[in-house]
Amino acid sequence: MSIELKIIEPTLFELSREGRFGFQLAASDVPAKDAHELLPDVALRGDLPLPELSEPDVVRHFIHLSSLNYCVDKGFYPLGSCTMKYNPKINDAAVAMPGFARVHPYQPEETAQGALEVLWQMQTALSALLGMDAVSLHPCAGAHGELLGLMLIRAYHEHNGQGNRKSILVPSAAHGTNPASAARCGYKTVSIDTDARGLVDMNHLRALLEKHAGDVAGLMLTNPNTLGLFEKDILEITGLIHDAGGLVYCDGANMNALVGTARPGDMGFDVMHTNLHKTFSVPHGGGGPGAGPVGVKKILEPFLPVPQAVRREDGTFGLDYDRPLSVGKIGPFYGPFLAILRAYVYIRHYGRERMHEISQNAVLNANYIRVRLGETFEVAYPEICMHECVFTLKALKAKGVKALDVAKRIIDYGYHPPTMYFPLLVPECLMIEPTETESVETIDAFIAAMEQIAREADENPSLILNAPHAAPVRRLDEAAAARNLDLSWTPREPVPSFQGDNGDGHPGTGRESASTF
Ligand SMILES: *Cc1c(COP(=O)(O)O)cnc(C)c1O
Repeated sequence: MSIELKIIEPTLFELSREGRFGFQLAASDVPAKDAHELLPDVALRGDLPLPELSEPDVVRHFIHLSSLNYCVDKGFYPLGSCTMKYNPKINDAAVAMPGFARVHPYQPEETAQGALEVLWQMQTALSALLGMDAVSLHPCAGAHGELLGLMLIRAYHEHNGQGNRKSILVPSAAHGTNPASAARCGYKTVSIDTDARGLVDMNHLRALLEKHAGDVAGLMLTNPNTLGLFEKDILEITGLIHDAGGLVYCDGANMNALVGTARPGDMGFDVMHTNLHKTFSVPHGGGGPGAGPVGVKKILEPFLPVPQAVRREDGTFGLDYDRPLSVGKIGPFYGPFLAILRAYVYIRHYGRERMHEISQNAVLNANYIRVRLGETFEVAYPEICMHECVFTLKALKAKGVKALDVAKRIIDYGYHPPTMYFPLLVPECLMIEPTETESVETIDAFIAAMEQIAREADENPSLILNAPHAAPVRRLDEAAAARNLDLSWTPREPVPSFQGDNGDGHPGTGRESASTF
């Protein structure tokens, strides 16, 4: 495998030219003050090495970089377990309305009635969609929602004199955030095996409940699970946990197979989160911020964070802080408001009558790929899937081509790679989630590209092993990038020459001695 790092983009610092500027401030109409009078000396830096550029320089630089980036507005993005669906632009139009965009969290309630009504409506709509009795909109991500959900479970047990329960059961196929959130909340995680069906191993679950009797605080379950399969025994599973005195948590990050069609609340779940930035069309993957609201059944409602949005008897909307059993605050103010608003527009756009079209088309698209691509690549669990389908590329690996190589090669065909090597229990795994927003033409073209790669594996494997050929960067050392994270800019030595250098082949700012900013 060739590892080549080819970053060719100059930074703003390298494009900088002394004396160039892109703004003009009007003359000040207040008396000038010396900076030393306003700020303590330690906060003042006289030699701040900022780049000097014209406005077109800056605009072109960032537009160019943004066009190198891949995004769902540019093409098909079949990243399993991430639900990269199209983000309707009407969501952004609502977010740009001044009454929403400029509302201030410290504004008096009577001047922010519209925003408060959105929060209340959203709590109500999500409760209905999830089959829950109440919803908190505070969590800012799926993992944040998991943490809150577990805090609610803990608060419930403590309130009932069962604070000694210390174990959370988590299936082996679970998303990595599940055990991490449980550990963060002070719980011990106990892993449940996945059986030959790709589902929770019921015998192992029963054995674990016997072994940890009296210690089980709850179970975290993703349904459909991360293999894209519906847990058929769900009613039995939630019943067993309840009988053991535990509560059942649903990881509903990806509700795309269920929304409008089935409700976790009806399956016996007591508490769950859902990702507005996956299921409900809020941008994510660098386009955030996200939102991971948590829904609960009545028994957990008293413990929800403060404040909750409420509709008062006189019909006005407000914030209720009078919640004596609340776990308190888990984030600033009232949750990620503009993400919540985008999802609200999305939900209102579909409405109660058409919501099921999302899940039905998501499941249809995933099964279309499972069947058509299953002629070329091996499906890990060959039965009807939900919103995503999982392939194992064991056979290709025998020819020297790994799932990673196929994922890199698909970039050359203009697609974002699918999720790879997750869930861990599928060898050479590729997980594909098309979402409901893709047309059959888009999906057919993607399938044709994948089939072409399968032919290349036989005829010209080096084409795959050295891919991508057409991307701005080649294969990055991802492990080193994660372990030796470097977020500061340092001038390159020797600094490469870009068009329009300043005479000495040196395009720099003239201030390279300041190595980090
Ligand atoms: C994405 C995802 C999460 C975590 O959501 P974040 O917003 O990234 O924290 C949790 N569980 C599953 C199944 C997911 O797909």
